[in-house]
Amino acid sequence: MLDGLDPEQREVATALHGPVCVLAGAGTGKTRAITHRIAFGVRAGILQPASVLAVTFTNRAAGEMRGRLRQLGAGGVQARTFHSAALRQLQYFWPKAVGGDLPRLVERKIQLVAEAAARCRVRLDRNELRDVTGEIEWAKVTQTVPADYPAAAAKSGRDAPRDAAEISQIYAMYEQLKRDRSMIDFEDVLLLTVGILQDRHDIADHVRSQYQHFVVDEYQDVSPLQQRLLELWLGDRPNLCVVGDASQTIYSFTGATPDHLLNFRTKHPDATVVKLVRDYRSTPQVVHLANGLLSQARGRAAEHRLELVSQREPGPEPLYTEYADEPAEAEGTARRIRDLIAAGVPAGEIAVLYRINAQSEVYEQALADAGVPYQLRGAERFFERQEVRKAIAGLRSAARFGDNDPLLDDVVDLPSQTRAVLSGNGWTPQPPAGSGAVRDQWESLAALVRLAEDFAKTRFTATLSDLVAELDERAAAQHAPTVQGVTLASLHSAKGLEWDAVFLVGLTEGMMPITYAKTDEQVEEERRLLYVGVTRARLHLVLSWALSRSPGGRASRRPSRFLNGLRPGSSVPGSRGASAPRAGSGSGAGMGGPAKRKRRSSALCRVCGKTLTDAGEVKLMRCEDCPSDMDEALYERLRDWRAGQARELGQPAYCVFTDKTLMAIAEAAPGEAGELAVIAGVGARKLERFGADVLALCAGQDLGGADEED
Ligand code: ATP
Ligand code: MG
Repeated sequence: MLDGLDPEQREVATALHGPVCVLAGAGTGKTRAITHRIAFGVRAGILQPASVLAVTFTNRAAGEMRGRLRQLGAGGVQARTFHSAALRQLQYFWPKAVGGDLPRLVERKIQLVAEAAARCRVRLDRNELRDVTGEIEWAKVTQTVPADYPAAAAKSGRDAPRDAAEISQIYAMYEQLKRDRSMIDFEDVLLLTVGILQDRHDIADHVRSQYQHFVVDEYQDVSPLQQRLLELWLGDRPNLCVVGDASQTIYSFTGATPDHLLNFRTKHPDATVVKLVRDYRSTPQVVHLANGLLSQARGRAAEHRLELVSQREPGPEPLYTEYADEPAEAEGTARRIRDLIAAGVPAGEIAVLYRINAQSEVYEQALADAGVPYQLRGAERFFERQEVRKAIAGLRSAARFGDNDPLLDDVVDLPSQTRAVLSGNGWTPQPPAGSGAVRDQWESLAALVRLAEDFAKTRFTATLSDLVAELDERAAAQHAPTVQGVTLASLHSAKGLEWDAVFLVGLTEGMMPITYAKTDEQVEEERRLLYVGVTRARLHLVLSWALSRSPGGRASRRPSRFLNGLRPGSSVPGSRGASAPRAGSGSGAGMGGPAKRKRRSSALCRVCGKTLTDAGEVKLMRCEDCPSDMDEALYERLRDWRAGQARELGQPAYCVFTDKTLMAIAEAAPGEAGELAVIAGVGARKLERFGADVLALCAGQDLGGADEED
């Protein structure tokens, strides 16, 4: 059990009593250490499987943890999200604590918030509605009641979408509507569980007698409400093991905070604190980029960063690719993915990660066009999909018919039976053409077929009824089967997961960081989100962006500021000059040929990093289309001055300086001769002749009216 662990991980696994805190970076084996810890404790007879509650962040992570625990011989251990653990307890204790059945869960929260707003006579547009809903959620997880919202929001520096008093009113109305209709929302599940455990000591004792040991993964993103629940579960017992990485805090906007992780020692002075730095997941190339990204991070989480050390063989350099527009980016990505698959990387080991879900559409289309299978939706909702529910109903009735089902005549093995039943629901051996709803449905059915195949491999004698029971169990745990397609997911939902090849797409200013990240803290959270994305890759990592949204559009976008100093041709923030560390060497083995760039000179666009070939663009030191940060007023002054010089010399203006050179000067605004000399078009002679004037103009000095044009 302990063989597969390094000495520090082993320390975690064997510290079975008292508080334990693991602070470690991405891919260092935190999740592995805690699963082995539980399994070790169970196998050694120290932990009773039913007395352990492992809490993870998503249903998918919980499902994976259950799988790992089963493999390690600790199948009876509960691995759940805070939410699902609380919901189970609430369902169980509701009749005793409150009486009657647990109220229904609100399905469409946004709609209810819209109704509440309408009743308060507040008109909200779609974005405001989403943001107000986010504020209500934040208020609830920070246990802020409507009346306290304005003060709490101001104190936390929330960037409220509307007047705080209005939000407070809508929030109160929303709560009222829920009560009137006997409904509860996602946050209420935790709030009510907390309430019951706080008020009813008998119930709290009951829960505590069942669970003795608690393990929490991704603890950096615990919300105040989840923390409160954890404390109530624990009582005054010390058996808590938490693991996390402050540099991966990506849910602060919902009220989560890494403080509980970072202050664990203060709260539990006798805690065993273990740090892990060996990165087992990613190659040195990926780790180098991840470390580089974090080295620019600021804020509290950044103070606790740990430099990762890769344990893997070297692999390809991360690739940086710039595209003209979004469809080109998606097509280029799909092409590379197809090449990777052709080179032997399984589709299920590839992910395309983006900042917001709306970015998925163009990738769906491109992958469908390239004939690449993909999995789009969050795994949580797999069993809620209509086609899946219908398919399971079909399997259930076939199982009931048993041998009498004519459809299953002569079909003996479980996978074939499943395929036969599901072909009645639209499953075909080959996927349908195109993307969209039909394709999505097929992917769901194909996932069920694969699940049956995998199930039959582990349970040789399994029948259709066994399969249906397994599906029901999974549905209850909301654990979707792994779909053997390329994963399309948001960066937030990629947390804790890993793939051989990761494509981080849409890395432009406005998307990464997202436009609405305004404060320094919000921007830092965006940087951590990108860090999470980078550290999902085991081997291949491709970062890309597009300069415009649609073909032929204005190339007004810039690559993400977080890549400055990391991508080739970009400068490190706060320093001068271009640097091209390691990245972008174009070695990309097995990546199907990275974009080949000419290496004529070091002339790279200082905005986007692209190699410049056009003479005018070389002078400008940027692509013509890339956004300019030129000082327009300075440019005008330089032009006026040039006109005067040209007149004096009796020569055309361009003999003094060309427009491009003037623009480059106005953009660089050099402060000294050395900085002016490096600008293309400013040779030694011109420097000598015009240098003093130009520098004076750049310094904002007025050279006197004599040279001004009238
Ligand atoms: P994250 O912060 O992203 O959640 P993590 O710290 O939880 O990462 P794991 O997912 O547990 O990291 O491990 C990362 C990868 O490294 C996994 O594939 C895991 O199996 C592997 N790994 C971890 N520890 C070891 C080890 N001691 N020997 C070999 N492989 C290991
Ligand atoms: Mg993990």
